[in-house]
Amino acid sequence: MTAKRTHIDLRSDTVTQPTAGMRAAMAAAVTGDDTYGEDPTTNQLQEITADLLGKEAALYVPSGTMANQIAIKLLTNPGESIVVGAQSHNWMFEAGAIGFISSAQVIVLPGDGRYTAEQLRASALPDQEFFSKTSAISVENTHNMGGGVLWEEGTLQQVLNGADELGLAKHLDGARLWNAAVASRASLAKLASRFDTVSVCLSKGLGAPVGSMLAGSADLIRKARKLRRILGGGMRQCGIVAAGGLYGIENHRARLADDHANAKRLAQGLNAIPGIEVDMERTQTNFVMAHVVDDALDTVEIVQMAAQRGVHFLQVAPKTLRLVTHLDVSRADCERAVAILDEMITNRQVLESSRKQ
Ligand SMILES: *Cc1c(COP(=O)(O)O)cnc(C)c1O
Repeated sequence: MTAKRTHIDLRSDTVTQPTAGMRAAMAAAVTGDDTYGEDPTTNQLQEITADLLGKEAALYVPSGTMANQIAIKLLTNPGESIVVGAQSHNWMFEAGAIGFISSAQVIVLPGDGRYTAEQLRASALPDQEFFSKTSAISVENTHNMGGGVLWEEGTLQQVLNGADELGLAKHLDGARLWNAAVASRASLAKLASRFDTVSVCLSKGLGAPVGSMLAGSADLIRKARKLRRILGGGMRQCGIVAAGGLYGIENHRARLADDHANAKRLAQGLNAIPGIEVDMERTQTNFVMAHVVDDALDTVEIVQMAAQRGVHFLQVAPKTLRLVTHLDVSRADCERAVAILDEMITNRQVLESSRKQ
């Protein structure tokens, strides 16, 4: 059973609980030994995902981290380098896995996580004696730490052209590509086209309890299967969890538009609170980045006091709060979160309590 929800949890879209419908689908899943390729539900999930992403094949893996790291291992050799955007998940939040698993170096391009073809050309290293040859790029769409922002189509095509000219392999960290597709009204296949590998998460906006997919050519995915085994990610009757992913793809994809609308509502509400600013232009999907612009307000204290009042979110920079909408956050929850924060901040409860200390 799902634990009863009394709090509004805006920390991440990873906190979603499987719905009753999803649990029923999981309980009814037909299973087999997937390391023999005999799990019908996992096979179905892999075929459907490959189709949606416009790739020859896809592989079910336990986490987005494993999907990204298998891709990077496939696309680099030890001692080579991969170009990523600022604060990209695969180098910042995957516990040093690129160095650990691929023995590759990371070239981080400054900015909001998105970067340009000019930046790429200026930083990719040639295959010369002194250098760590650049062999791949990674693009994160939507960009998590950038605030769930979408890559602009023209910029992306130029970056991909640049990568092609430099002979670099291309990985798409599409943990939230589902959100990108809904927000930009583009197909998943279009957003993933031109990339050698693409990872997508089932356990974020889609609400599945576990799992990610890695898609690419049949040859790359055959090699990825072996790497999954090496990393300990070969699974047996995983159809039982794969069914949750399938259910999410079928039933929770279109509703991501609700999460985006709720995030906009939340952003507007927060923007109206004195001392808090949200860039509406950058509120493009299910993320809200709220900046504390009044120096008299203590960001850490805002997080703590809101949590005491049942509203949970993260501080992601000294003066920045991140609030994420998802399946388990309703429109009314967003209104309530705004009301609670407004009361806390406008009535200066944050300041009052600071002064007492
Ligand atoms: C969540 C996420 C991942 C995968 O993280 P896991 O915790 O391994 O599921 C990868 N990339 C991005 C951008 C993410 O937000």
